[in-house]
Amino acid sequence: MATAQAQLRRAVEILGYGEDLHEVLATPRRELRVAVPLRRDDGRVQVFTGYRVQHNISRGPGKGGLRYALGVDIDEVRALAMWMTWKCAVVDVPYGGAKGGVTVDPHAHSTGELERITRRYTSEIMPMIGPERDIMAPDIGTNEQTMAWVMDTYSVNRGYTIPAVTTGKPLAVGGSLGRPTATSQGVVHTARAALRADGVELSEVRAAVQGFGKVGSHTARLLHEAGSRVVAVSDEHGGVRRDDGLDLPALLEHVASTGSVTGFPDADPLSNEELLALDVDLLVPAAVEGVLDGETAQHVKARWVVEGANGPTTSEGDRVLAERGVVVVPDVLANAGGVVVSYFEWVQANQAYWWTEGEIAERLEQRMLASHAAVAALARAESVTLREAAMTIGVRRVAEAHLIRGLYP
Ligand code: GLU
Repeated sequence: MATAQAQLRRAVEILGYGEDLHEVLATPRRELRVAVPLRRDDGRVQVFTGYRVQHNISRGPGKGGLRYALGVDIDEVRALAMWMTWKCAVVDVPYGGAKGGVTVDPHAHSTGELERITRRYTSEIMPMIGPERDIMAPDIGTNEQTMAWVMDTYSVNRGYTIPAVTTGKPLAVGGSLGRPTATSQGVVHTARAALRADGVELSEVRAAVQGFGKVGSHTARLLHEAGSRVVAVSDEHGGVRRDDGLDLPALLEHVASTGSVTGFPDADPLSNEELLALDVDLLVPAAVEGVLDGETAQHVKARWVVEGANGPTTSEGDRVLAERGVVVVPDVLANAGGVVVSYFEWVQANQAYWWTEGEIAERLEQRMLASHAAVAALARAESVTLREAAMTIGVRRVAEAHLIRGLYP
């Protein structure tokens, strides 16, 4: 939360807002903490803790993912909810920002247990969510199936099917074409735009991707398809490198059969820390928060860092990277492709009319490039970093909505 708050403070400073407005923007609107009791497969009962935070709903319903991980706590969920607020505003989708989480290791549970956790969590936060209140999506540790369970639990309790309460659903229950790869597509669109600003093409660069989940795996594949040499990838178990470039299709098959990038033949092992310090042009942190701090940022050799994860760079890390001339395309812009197509999924569900894959890809690219262009233009005009520019645009849009609505009562 410290990183998110520091980024907000800096944007408020650039915008010249007073302390009153800062306090409104810094304070989460609603927070709910719930107990999630689970009957385990062996009959024992275990109680987990879940959260849903709506950071800001001035521009529309809350929007944001649901995370299942052992590190989930209120502080992390608050930060992630705040980043969703700015992210939705930067790409101008009519949502506020929210996030949810359950402190649980999803790998330690059967499918049946995960279903029961998900349904009970949904039931506990029912009053807070809904297609016009707060719309959930997958995040770390959750997936399409989780969203189908959330949607079903919500719908059964209301008595009719309400697909627009979640996004990132399977196609069979009102999901959108293009949603599974949307975040990664957006990362690649913004990476391409950032490189082009310096006269470089994706096909000319060596890249490393940290994280091989929903974001990292597709990003690595799409970079490979765009002609980049992807020389290293990693997941929570470790990483692999190959200086001539990894054979991505073969690596994806290896991960499908073993569950990890580690042990991939024809490549050398490397740690997650080593990956960040690799001699590459483009670095995509697409795993968790805080990996690029004041220390690790000193060793980054990449010229461009494109943030697939939320909050991978601390404020100290940001300062070090800026000093060293590294271009950082910030999370609230770079990984916004996911929420953009979530928005398209919600629009389609509300209209009960589905678009083609081509329409979705085109509208996503258009929105990502327009958002990147606006952020880059402001950064140039004001001599600030891309993060400061993106935050300024996002915070200003939210503040404008708040001010024009006025304070009640
Ligand atoms: N969890 C994703 C994110 O952090 C997607 C959020 C959404 O689509 O609502 O951006």
